[in-house]
Amino acid sequence: MNDAADDNLPRLSEVIDRYGLSARKNLGQNFLLDLNLTRRIARTAGPLEGFTIIEVGPGPGGLTRALLMEGADKVIAVERDERALPALAEISAAWPGRLTVMHGDALATDWQAIAGSRPVKIVANLPYNIATPLLTGWLTRHPWPPFWSSLTLMFQKEVAHRICAGVGDNAYGRLSIISQWRSDAVKMFDVSPKAFTPQPKVTSSIVHVTPRSEPVVGCDAAVLEKVTAAAFGQRRKMLRSSLKALGGDPVALITEAGLEPTMRAEEVDVAGFCRLAQAASP
Ligand code: SAM
Repeated sequence: MNDAADDNLPRLSEVIDRYGLSARKNLGQNFLLDLNLTRRIARTAGPLEGFTIIEVGPGPGGLTRALLMEGADKVIAVERDERALPALAEISAAWPGRLTVMHGDALATDWQAIAGSRPVKIVANLPYNIATPLLTGWLTRHPWPPFWSSLTLMFQKEVAHRICAGVGDNAYGRLSIISQWRSDAVKMFDVSPKAFTPQPKVTSSIVHVTPRSEPVVGCDAAVLEKVTAAAFGQRRKMLRSSLKALGGDPVALITEAGLEPTMRAEEVDVAGFCRLAQAASP
């Protein structure tokens, strides 16, 4: 592991000791102390200069420092744990004018308001307990294209698999469709539990998401969510049965979408779900 500092800041293990950052489970705290790894994650986001980089949950700052070392000239980091703020202030002081730290809850943050006028990249080793709601919030927002030009995010490997899965894959489901109907989601690489302090039980993966200007088929995000919830709520049942949960005549809806009433949710591709949402729109 390389937690040696080539930014003249202390080693991350020293930072954790100095500021008493014992990991808290309720905050999803599994820290990355290897700057080689965090720099690799930062590079996965592509060029950083000229963008506002939003980081969720900087903690002791391993990824924050990597983003700055890899060329980010404006980073805004939102951290809930006030114990981490003095450590983050040290990083701010070492990179004058480049890092703004906000103490707050990522789930209650108005991202568009803090983004400003520059293009935005979101890069984060997310706390696992809020990773999916944050992702779906960014993916379902209006207007589109969104305020962000890419998301480079750490998830549990199984969640990353669900985000990127296609028809025919056991992991294909609601999260795959909401991630792919107007974005491209690619799993970039796995990260061993050994890379974290403390070590989680599961492997993690970095996912890179970029928005397309247009959806696969135009439809409303809220209706798409309702349709996929109904269909995958009973994924082994035929659509003519599972879509009864939407009210109305499911067979008419399915036919209008150009699908067969006997199909199961796992057989319908992303475009098919978008057409179902179109047909189900008021
Ligand atoms: N970025 C650091 C790293 O890679 O070592 C820490 C990542 S750790 C998995 C998740 C971080 O998110 C922690 O620092 C935690 O305190 C913070 N966090 C947890 N819940 C949060 C929330 N609701 N809003 C903002 N930050 C949160």
